[in-house]
Amino acid sequence: MDINLGGIRLAESKLDVTDLVELQLIENAISARSSEIENIKNNKEQVSAQEGLKRAAGKFDEANGACSDLESKRKKLEDTVELQNEKIKNDEKKLFSGTIMSAKELENYQEEVKILKQKNSEIEDKILELMIELEEMSDKVKLAAAEKDKAEADLNRINNEMNEKIEVLKHIIEGLRKRKDDVILRIPGDHLKKYNEVKTKKGGIAVSVLKNNFCSVCNMEIPMIAAEKIDDIDEIYSCPLCGRIAVIYRSEIDIIKKELES
Ligand SMILES: [Zn+2]
Repeated sequence: MDINLGGIRLAESKLDVTDLVELQLIENAISARSSEIENIKNNKEQVSAQEGLKRAAGKFDEANGACSDLESKRKKLEDTVELQNEKIKNDEKKLFSGTIMSAKELENYQEEVKILKQKNSEIEDKILELMIELEEMSDKVKLAAAEKDKAEADLNRINNEMNEKIEVLKHIIEGLRKRKDDVILRIPGDHLKKYNEVKTKKGGIAVSVLKNNFCSVCNMEIPMIAAEKIDDIDEIYSCPLCGRIAVIYRSEIDIIKKELES
């Protein structure tokens, strides 16, 4: 039975109308899953974890840098002490060598040794202060390192969770694409052409399901006069309100929906 609706007779063929609905539902499911992937990628938790890691790494570098500075100061002072000790040793050797002839020379050496020992004692005090500072700073470094590790672990956990979810969705999409290919093979070429034409014109949705005279896409009730002519479950119509390919509801459609959701 050929039906004319709003002057548009869509087709007459051996088309199984549920295939058209299935194709639409599969495409809806693919785009929904793709949106889910995009939502997962726009993860605020990940952004804040990245910022947290950046902050923690900055603190760690700062503390570590301060530690290195203190360490090199200490090293420099120790080198000075060592150098001066060497000088003291040489002076003392000279003093006890018996080669010093004048009292003035003796006094000069003794004075120099005294001054050097005095300086060394002052430097050693500074070294002690530095070592206390270093100990405090190295505690800070340890703390900062622990915080950095934690921030890194947080970010890794979030990334792993995201990747796992995305992998699952990609797998689902892959299955949907295979199913779509199978459905496409079952749909006669002219119907497929029509489907794609309507899809392009109507924002990506070509097929609607009519249930209780309501269009599933435009959500409008079909006027009684038009609805009376929509009576063959195996035929395709055109929604007089949104112009999409319209198919009368049957329970298989819910079964397909359920399958696609799982
Ligand atoms: Zn409609």
